[in-house]
Amino acid sequence: MAAYEKGGGVCFKESKGVLMKSRQVTQYICEFCNKRTYTKQSMANHEANCTMNPNRGCRMCLKGLAEGGDMSRLLPLMPDPIWNDSGDLENLAQINEAIEKVRKECGDCPACILATLRQKRIPSYPTDFNYKYECERFWKEYNDN
Ligand SMILES: [Zn+2]
Ligand SMILES: [Zn+2]
Repeated sequence: MAAYEKGGGVCFKESKGVLMKSRQVTQYICEFCNKRTYTKQSMANHEANCTMNPNRGCRMCLKGLAEGGDMSRLLPLMPDPIWNDSGDLENLAQINEAIEKVRKECGDCPACILATLRQKRIPSYPTDFNYKYECERFWKEYNDN
């Protein structure tokens, strides 16, 4: 993770005649997706599970419903996206088939499927995969068991 300091130390700035306090904050940036947080611990937690991290762990799989999503097993199942001139995914059918293979391999874990798509630079839309819907289904099954 990268850390950088923002602001100019503890000082008083005069703005429109009012004294304002500004404080220096440290921001931590995820090296995989550029997300920022203000604490080192929350960034460490995020990076370990970041969907853009090829060596990520998976918090959802750890819930016990799905088996471990090992990204090195999932990524080779997904083809690279082929975009045509009008901005459509030329191999959409192939990608949708691959999503089902990934689904089997990771034990139907929505976070692992999303991570595979993101790391292949494939947007969820227009594929058959709807992360929000899949998560709702996942947690419903989890809570029912
Ligand atoms: Zn991240
Ligand atoms: Zn998972």
